[in-house]
Amino acid sequence: MCGIIGIYTPEATVDAPLVAWAGLFGLQHRGQESAGMAWLSDTSGEIRLRKAKGLISQSLDPKNIDYGASNVVIGHCRYSTSGGNSLANAQPLRAVCAQGQVAIAHNGNISNIDMLKSELRHKGAIFQSTSDTEVILHLIAHRSDLSLEKAFVAALKRLEGGYALVAIVGNKLMVARDFKGIRPLSLGKVGDKWMAASESCAIEQLGGKVTRNVKPGEVIIIDGEEPKTIFQFGHTDERICAFEYVYFSRPDSMVDDNSVYKARIALGMALAKSAPVDVDIVCGMPDSGRISAMGYGRQMNIPFEEAILRNHFVGRSFILPDQDAREQAVRQKLRPVSDSLKGKKVVVVDDSIVRGTTSKYVIKMLKDAGAAEVHMRIASPPVKWPCFYGIDMPDKSELAAANYSEEELCAIIGADSIKWLELSDLSPSICGVEGKICNACFTGNYLWEEIHD
Ligand code: AMP
Repeated sequence: MCGIIGIYTPEATVDAPLVAWAGLFGLQHRGQESAGMAWLSDTSGEIRLRKAKGLISQSLDPKNIDYGASNVVIGHCRYSTSGGNSLANAQPLRAVCAQGQVAIAHNGNISNIDMLKSELRHKGAIFQSTSDTEVILHLIAHRSDLSLEKAFVAALKRLEGGYALVAIVGNKLMVARDFKGIRPLSLGKVGDKWMAASESCAIEQLGGKVTRNVKPGEVIIIDGEEPKTIFQFGHTDERICAFEYVYFSRPDSMVDDNSVYKARIALGMALAKSAPVDVDIVCGMPDSGRISAMGYGRQMNIPFEEAILRNHFVGRSFILPDQDAREQAVRQKLRPVSDSLKGKKVVVVDDSIVRGTTSKYVIKMLKDAGAAEVHMRIASPPVKWPCFYGIDMPDKSELAAANYSEEELCAIIGADSIKWLELSDLSPSICGVEGKICNACFTGNYLWEEIHD
């Protein structure tokens, strides 16, 4: 997963890059491996680029970078899904094509990437990174018979998978969303500047206002007072990613007009209805399980307690390379509040179980701290399939729920019981009964006819 941001203002100003930088802060939760910004320099007329490993605050700090004045800026924070964590894969990517200069930042995964890469290689393309985004640049460059904007649209027509894109195309901002709308993208205004962002929270934290969401399959150009739709895929089939609500997006964001906070409360309440348990307290796995835990407690009429605290200065445990490192990071990250646990029957709500590392450790930790019983409740169905549209998931062989039965997993993690959300409760909790989501990681029902082993 990644976070993307795009800024356009009719007149170049020195604060446009600063607003982009500040906006990107609101998306830091979407990617912490690397960050980058590209901006059209008012003095040289060139697209300038800065990217580095690490957090946005450090790697793009305006104290260390002279951005100068610009009227179009894009930014990116990266959490590698496909391609490794090398600086070559950090975004945005920039190229000078026959028709002019382009820079692109991308959130998602292109699922027909192997086919496209092989086709481009046969036409002479040489790739310098393993990132999907480079393929989009090559697709644009290969359509030198078209204007840059038309080449951008032609490139998008070749892509399958989930993507949200922001791009500096010539001296304009272009934004686009895949025709199933798997990855989110909002559009709004911060003062006199247009801002596109992966999540509404990035716009609102700057005192801005979201004007609308980019529609599935919509390609927008911003080069004047108002954004213009220059292309709309005809065959859209809305399928927002369920995991955006379950785990990825910030609870203060609206994703496609649905509140992430409300969705998590509803998921917790639905879970309590289908999988109640007789306990004294409910607590949430920090941070992503806490809101569903509140919903669970509300429905069951049991108190929500902060029984597990998180050290916010520890990085992500999930993406560490080996199991020992992941366990060590979870140990440092999560600590019990013994006082609220002693002698209590506890239900812990988490958003998902992937490898089972977190649950196994937390259950032992709570029991060591004196909990009489620890029950696990998961506010999404079992994750049994990898995602090919932009969520980083390990191989199927590492997905706990794909390899063990409920009873086996319960014994492995040492819980007194474990239950997941019913699949039939997922979509109604997120976006109502009529809503459409991508649930491929729970069902294996992929949106394209890929063959995935
Ligand atoms: P695990 O410990 O492997 O079972 O991972 C589950 C924990 O990681 C849950 O508490 C989730 O909040 C979090 N999580 C789930 N999916 C992801 C993901 N794709 N990337 C990072 N963290 C995740």
